[in-house]
Amino acid sequence: MRSIPKLRLIAFTTLILGLISSTQASDQPTGHLGKGTIWETPWYTIDSGKEGPTVIVTGGIHGNEPAGATAAEQIRHWDIDAGKLIVVPKVNRLGLTAETRWFPPERNNRPLRDLNRNFPTKENPAPRTPLATDVWKLVESTKPDYVVDLHEGFDFHIANSKSVGSSIIFAKSNERTELANAMHKAVNKTVTDKDRKIVLLSKSGAVNGSLVRACQDRLNASGFILETTFKDQPLSLRTRQHRVMVSTLFQKIGLIDQDQSHRVAPSKDASVIQIGMYDSAGATGNGIKNFNKLFNSNNQFNMTQIGPADMIPEVLNQFDVLLFPGGSGSKQGKAIGEKGRDEIRKFGEEGGGVVGVCAGAYLCSSHYTWSLNMINSAVFNETIEIPGVGRKSMWYRGKSSQVEMEFDQSAEPIFNRSDLAKVRYHNGPIVSKGKNTSLPDFTALAWFRSEVAKYEPQKGTMIDTPAIITAPYGKGRVLCISPHPESTPGLEPAILDAIKYVRPQEK
Ligand SMILES: [Zn+2]
Repeated sequence: MRSIPKLRLIAFTTLILGLISSTQASDQPTGHLGKGTIWETPWYTIDSGKEGPTVIVTGGIHGNEPAGATAAEQIRHWDIDAGKLIVVPKVNRLGLTAETRWFPPERNNRPLRDLNRNFPTKENPAPRTPLATDVWKLVESTKPDYVVDLHEGFDFHIANSKSVGSSIIFAKSNERTELANAMHKAVNKTVTDKDRKIVLLSKSGAVNGSLVRACQDRLNASGFILETTFKDQPLSLRTRQHRVMVSTLFQKIGLIDQDQSHRVAPSKDASVIQIGMYDSAGATGNGIKNFNKLFNSNNQFNMTQIGPADMIPEVLNQFDVLLFPGGSGSKQGKAIGEKGRDEIRKFGEEGGGVVGVCAGAYLCSSHYTWSLNMINSAVFNETIEIPGVGRKSMWYRGKSSQVEMEFDQSAEPIFNRSDLAKVRYHNGPIVSKGKNTSLPDFTALAWFRSEVAKYEPQKGTMIDTPAIITAPYGKGRVLCISPHPESTPGLEPAILDAIKYVRPQEK
């Protein structure tokens, strides 16, 4: 056989790869709405290059509904098999940043502040604000067959008719009713609480002035408003509901061949560390906020919030590192369940990194029945009878306070420091060597050099114990941080260093 010159082979391969990737999700925006304005926001095209429907997905039209924006951002990374997909993940980007429903430049203008009332109607045939004009131009020029607008409500419609939370809003037609029924069935399979089920709202369809209504009336596109509910539901669950509905719709209309509701992160890329952060039962809101802020300000990291339903290989495979934040370790462990904990261990065995902070450090330990058992650490947590006080659990040391932590000399390559620092501490585990002999010993990367104690028997038990520990687990690494660098001004980079340290190692 004649050998192909190497250079030509490379050129050929590059051409083929170029052709393949051009039809799939790209990280580069196709364009921006409001280019050069303060509300500038990117939009993306995913073109299969094959015949099929054109679909527009929008998120974040209301800035206080982050699930729609987050889900749309995830969906823009899906690979489609036919037709064309256009995604505007953060339509009202300014509103999302300000966490307000309104479009901030018009926030004091009652008739104009709600972007989803600014689109063409019979009475007002032109869009009524510059952002609505830009959205409308994009929609008109792409001539969509379907428009999917992702929202969330303040309460479950099934239990409180004042909110449209957890509903599918559409105008009846044979096709639309069939599609809505399919989405309804698929999403409700994932909802066990009957007071949180998604309902169909087709009586009056999308409200006048909304994007979906305008698309339906003026462009003859089939539109759906997909609503989840932000009350008492973590972001991971809300985005999952959006993804399940959208994936069902896409399959039905032939845009995709297979379910993609598990696709939450961009394709792996060595320049970005993909983090899955647990956000459900046992994770506190403040912790989630702090970590979001930290990762959003650094493009070396991409963080996706995940919950118990995501502890499956299809989802976990997309991450380099899993992060378990502060809150309650037992609640986290119990919510994740035995099967989920098995999957997390498998993730570690295969080389994934796991970081636990405070409650997350309890979770990683080998101490409890609900623990991940991924690092051989025992926790100082007896229940002691204190004269005149009663039986007290020793994990509790009172409200949040500052303690001194010294980075170990050996950890200099990881944290670039070996000094004494003040760090916020809030009942993180006081650890010692555990009893699981099948796990390797841990290494201390930092030490507590002062302590907090609420009860007499706690005194002297914290000082000079490890504050940060690490150990290999399978092909991966586990790292546990007892205090809270992520909410200690100036110490936040320690979290990023920890994540870099446990990320899968180059082979
Ligand atoms: Zn909304």
